[in-house]
Amino acid sequence: GPSGAGKSTIIENSSRDIGEYYFSISTTTREPREGEADGVDYYFVSRTEFEEGIKAGDFLEYATVHGNYYGTSLKPVNEALSQGKLVIFDIDVQGHRLVRAKMGSFVTSAFITPSSLAILKERLYARATDRDDIIKGRIESAKEEIKAIGEFDFVIINDTIERASSEFITIA
Ligand code: 5GP
Repeated sequence: GPSGAGKSTIIENSSRDIGEYYFSISTTTREPREGEADGVDYYFVSRTEFEEGIKAGDFLEYATVHGNYYGTSLKPVNEALSQGKLVIFDIDVQGHRLVRAKMGSFVTSAFITPSSLAILKERLYARATDRDDIIKGRIESAKEEIKAIGEFDFVIINDTIERASSEFITIA
């Protein structure tokens, strides 16, 4: 779902209740936000490094989101799957299409969204970690992303974090 929908909060909040899983740490060329750590939230790399990764075939999928590259590394995902672990991806609608195309019925997906655009705007501004023009871009992307809602197995409306998390746990 859109940036600001609360995807990472829901995953964090649910982590104790979904057994053993591997959270796929994505690689990105965007700047780290305050409080984000390399190797925890993302692997933060330069555009050159990312493009080398593309050439080397390192990514299960990658996409340009809000002007930056974001990608899922193939190797740790395969390792986790071969150990029988649940793998959780926090990826955008383009990534979802690609992962589904590659992994098919293996995948269960959920579109996570706030109940209105007004609430999304509020959250993005309250987070106060992105510049105004970036927030505006994210709101425009949200309008596009919501069109893909029908491609997902489940929709979670994140009105309260407790309810959204318990729905997420049911799916996972
Ligand atoms: P943010 O910059 O807010 O962390 O993430 C922006 C968007 O990129 C979110 O919708 C997030 O789900 C998506 N995203 C994060 N990692 C990946 C990835 O590896 N691949 C794709 N396709 N999207 C990603």
